Amino acid sequence: MGARSMLVEGVVYRGSSGLYSVRASSGTDYHARLRGNMKKDLEYSTSASYARRVTRARKRRSTDPIAVGDIVTVNTDTNQIEHVAPRISELARTAPGGREQHVLVANLNMVFVTFAAQNPDPNLWLLDRFLVASEAAELSASIVINKIDLVENDTELRKKFQPYEKIGYRVFYISAGTGIGLREFIAELPGKISAFTGPSGVGKSSLLNAIQPGLKLKTGEIGIITNKGHHTTTTAELIPIERIDGAWIADTPGLRQMEFWEIPLEDIEYCFPEFEKYRGHCQFGNCSHKTEPDCAVREASRSKEIDPRRYKSYLNMIATDREFLNAGERA
Ligand code: GDP
Ligand code: ZN
Repeated sequence: MGARSMLVEGVVYRGSSGLYSVRASSGTDYHARLRGNMKKDLEYSTSASYARRVTRARKRRSTDPIAVGDIVTVNTDTNQIEHVAPRISELARTAPGGREQHVLVANLNMVFVTFAAQNPDPNLWLLDRFLVASEAAELSASIVINKIDLVENDTELRKKFQPYEKIGYRVFYISAGTGIGLREFIAELPGKISAFTGPSGVGKSSLLNAIQPGLKLKTGEIGIITNKGHHTTTTAELIPIERIDGAWIADTPGLRQMEFWEIPLEDIEYCFPEFEKYRGHCQFGNCSHKTEPDCAVREASRSKEIDPRRYKSYLNMIATDREFLNAGERA
């Protein structure tokens, strides 16, 4: 062992029973373990904005000290992880029956909510749920409309997604099959950890294979990070996109369908970015924007400043007897 240990920073892209695969920016892979006494000092500081927004503080506790996506410092003499960088985002699911959170992916930069132009037709109510789930996790989201080759005239289609562009979501019209729009889309990937989500059959696997030919996606085949044998736990892996600098795709079956997103109902209004401007102007501070008098959000929907269909989508989401919305659930 050298007198001076060599410290290298890299991204955790896979982990299994305490052994983590870390890729340094040089491209070198390290297989490292967490320094023994480090677990207890790990204090993740994620951005506080969501915590400030939510009306009820919830304590997060992670079951895993390290998740894929974490930026770590490896001592190459000892092959130990010496430091974990503060996370910019955390995609977590609550462990069944507990307050503990299982972090699926750390530092995800972008969620591409994917639908098809046709076959199957895009379901905007479901799109809203995926977007709300992304907002709840404080992740940037963009919309991808695949199979654009199937529509001859896309005027109607583009009109459908205009309200989303007005809110500020980017919409990419592409075809994994023919390659339309792929170049512009791929330009979004460098230096980011991205994830694809959306209903099945819209072409997510085809899209990934178009981005990286030869990529074999193993849906349902899990077991990369086993969490102490709980087989309800899905595992995540980052897939490097080799042709694109620093581009990673996070893949896990649960993530693709957003099966695990449980969102407290009172948080949902904060997941509609277009409500922001109006929320403070309601008569009641705790307005649910449903039936209260002098509700600025409802008024904005009436005057179409807020897309009335999106407002309806909000009402649908909060109209449940439960405390949580299950984002991936089919309506
Ligand atoms: P996933 O369930 O979202 O991963 O969807 P798949 O990638 O399995 O694709 C579902 C079906 O849509 C397959 O039959 C694909 O061949 C087809 N498909 C995917 N992308 C395109 C596309 O851009 N255009 C057309 N016409 N078909 C596509
Ligand atoms: Zn209101």
